[in-house]
Amino acid sequence: MIKKLLLELKGKLEEQKASIEAELGKFAKKDENLKGDWDTKFPKADGGIGGQVLEDAADQVEEYVNLLPVEHNMELRLQSINLALEKIKKGVYGKCENCGKNIDEERLRVLPEARECSKCGK
Ligand SMILES: [Zn+2]
Repeated sequence: MIKKLLLELKGKLEEQKASIEAELGKFAKKDENLKGDWDTKFPKADGGIGGQVLEDAADQVEEYVNLLPVEHNMELRLQSINLALEKIKKGVYGKCENCGKNIDEERLRVLPEARECSKCGK
């Protein structure tokens, strides 16, 4: 792969990584024990027991439940991005994991973390 393109894609990956991490950091906490894993923060309902507090707590539980799939998706993307960055380091970036052919430039520009070529990938 042309070095210039590789650097460009690496820059994109690092940018995306930073923005996903920033986004995740708003509602999730990096799991220190498990690399690449994030945990959605469970909102704490403070205060005593009362109608309003309980209602707020229910809202927060709902928010938590809604955030879980979002967190999961972001985590998966982050993992793909990290994998791509790892491949750049090892010098094996841009090859299809399925057929071993080079992934075309167009596809990488749209999806720099692509693991498969356009024929093999979805
Ligand atoms: Zn392929």
